[in-house]
This record gives sequence, structure tokens and C-alpha cells, in this order.
Amino acid sequence: MPKANETVLEIDLGALTHNFNYLKSKLQPSTKFLAVVKAFAYGSDSVAIAKHLESLNVDYLAVAYAKEGVLLRDAGVTTPILVLHPQPINFKTLIERCLEPSIYSARILNEFISVAEDQSQKDYPIHVKFNTGLNRLGFGRNDVDYIASQLNRTTSIKVKSLFSHLAASEDKNETDFTNNQIKSFKSIAEDFKSKLDYKPWLHLCNTSGIINYPKGHLDMVRSGIGLYGFGNSVLEDQKLKPIARLKSVISQIHNIEKGETVGYNRAYKAKGLEKTATIPIGHADGITRVYGKEKGFVFINGQKAPIIGNVCMDMIMVNVSDIDCSEGDEVIIFDGSHKASNLAESSGTISYEIITAISQRVSRNIIST
Ligand SMILES: *Cc1c(COP(=O)(O)O)cnc(C)c1O
Repeated sequence: MPKANETVLEIDLGALTHNFNYLKSKLQPSTKFLAVVKAFAYGSDSVAIAKHLESLNVDYLAVAYAKEGVLLRDAGVTTPILVLHPQPINFKTLIERCLEPSIYSARILNEFISVAEDQSQKDYPIHVKFNTGLNRLGFGRNDVDYIASQLNRTTSIKVKSLFSHLAASEDKNETDFTNNQIKSFKSIAEDFKSKLDYKPWLHLCNTSGIINYPKGHLDMVRSGIGLYGFGNSVLEDQKLKPIARLKSVISQIHNIEKGETVGYNRAYKAKGLEKTATIPIGHADGITRVYGKEKGFVFINGQKAPIIGNVCMDMIMVNVSDIDCSEGDEVIIFDGSHKASNLAESSGTISYEIITAISQRVSRNIIST
């Protein structure tokens, strides 16, 4: 039985290289690759991931918020960084730290022009976002003339790219909708380009877009979840390697009798003589309460142990009645073979949520296989 010390999230850079190369193999050689490293690189370690991708010659990085980009710049990351969802209060910082904003509305465009002019910028790179059906962020197709007129009144900014985001690229039942998004984006982009005397890049596809819609690859693709080892389908999951391994340790074992209860609110009741293991990971570490009451599970000695009762802040209790194990033994919450996507599915969520939820309290250990 493997032993363990404490709860650790192991991040395998070898698996990241594999996923990067696999996703790139789906692209034309001229298509650029933007790696999405928001939310601590999907709950892993954004600095380690960004630096490794930089060593693999990734073309671009993206984060959601300005402070995530600042963290990367402070760590010495020099690759261009697109900030997907900035606010006006961040604009001065963006310019100071060479971070490139997504410009998603007239308000944001005008505020950014005003800050760029105050900072005496010339041709500062921006990325103009269009809404083609997700109805989350972005200009509409009728805004093209307005944007072009605002661009013509300043030399402070220059459009590096035009982009949009797919709403259901992983869903085979929504191919008509997705094809329409691709068509609509291409036609908006043609209209926009006809009003400029230079050619911005176009990009649209996330990971599932890369896999399912080659005709949407355009000049660049934006991949997040695929880099971390999940392809939103059984087939693609087999090709990718989860980079994160969340492991812990059995702190204590209890033998309990029929009718005894486990944890807060006495949410689990033993059906006979049972053996439980207490593990130092809880909802404050990202194992949310939805994994309680036997929806979620861990693996001990290769065997599945359901999480019983309510998840506590700093621990969970699991049923190990049928598992040969002792205190100090290693516990796997997820890894390359016990996939986070399975745990997510059994608890009614998606891989994205379980991996990004692992809190900063859990130590990260960077390895390379
Ligand atoms: C998060 C995000 C992505 C990455 O999506 P994946 O499904 O993780 O590949 C791409 N583009 C935008 C705009 C995003 O917000």
C-alpha cells in the first residue's frame, strides 16, 4: 500500500506537453495557439503552466481578469497575454504590464481609448469581442460601423484580433447553432476588415471547437480544458492526459456499529459493523458539499470508497468497510486513471468545476514525467 504525507495537488508538466502537442496536431501549421490559463490555469498553477507553455513556444496566453495577468508578469512571463474580461478600473494596470484587453462594449472601448490616450500610447493592441449567440460579452454585428468610427478618431490603439466564443461546441445536438455562429462571425469579421487598412487575426474555437469544427480554426484557437487533459467526450478523453493528481492520506480509521452516525447533522447511519476513514480534505479545499452523501468518492488501494455524510470544512469521511487499508495510506481523489470527469459526473457537475475548485490551501507539487 502506498503511503502519503498530506493533501497535495501534483501537476505533471509531461502530461501538459502531451496535451499541447495533441491539440496542435489537429491544427494547420499556420494556426496560432492561445493557451487559456485563467483561474490559476484551471486550478493547477498558472505560473508553472504559463512558463512551461512558453518553453513550448505557445503564441498567446489568456486570463479572465487583470490581476491574473499581473501575477504572470510578476513571475517573468513575457508571452502576449489577452485579458478576456477586464474592467475600466484595470486599464492603467493593463497598459503598465503589457496586458491586452478584450474590448467587448462601447463603454469599454471608449474608456480604454481615453486611458490609452492619457498614457500616450500608440497602436496599443486590443482584441475586439463579438457576441454571436452566447449572449455573455461582446459587440453585436450592428456595432461594426461605430467601432470603426471610434478607431478612426485615435492612433492610441490598434486591433490585434477579432474574436467570438462558441456556446455549445461540445454538443453534437447543437451543430446547426454552432455552424451558424461560425458563419455569423466570419461575416462580421469580413465587414470589419473591409473598414481597416490592416488585417487583424480572427479566432473563435475553444477546446471542443478545435476538436469538432476544423473550419472554425481561422488564425488562432483558444484552448483551456484540453491542455489540462479533458476533451468533453469519451473519445477525446482517451487521447488527453489529466495533468493534475489530487492525493491525500488516511488520518484515522474508525470501526462503528450499526445505527451509529457519521459527521455533522448525523447525515450517515451505519447499516451494520462498518469501517470509516477520515481524510484531511474538505469544502474549504474545493471538495464541495455536493460530493457528500455518497455522490462522490475517492480511491484507496485501487478501490472506490464513497464519501459518507456531509463534507466538513477540513475533512471528509469515507466508507472503507470492504477495503484493506490502514492509517497513513495514500488516498486518490482524482488522477490520470481516476478521472475528475467521472467524479464530476456522479455529482452532477463538469470537470471544469471540480478542477478549478481546488483551493489555494492545497499545496501544488510540480513534477514532470
Ligand atoms: C475559458 C475560455 C476559453 C477556453 O475554453 P475551453 O473550453 O476550456 O477550451 C476560450 N475562450 C474564452 C473566451 C473563454 O472564456
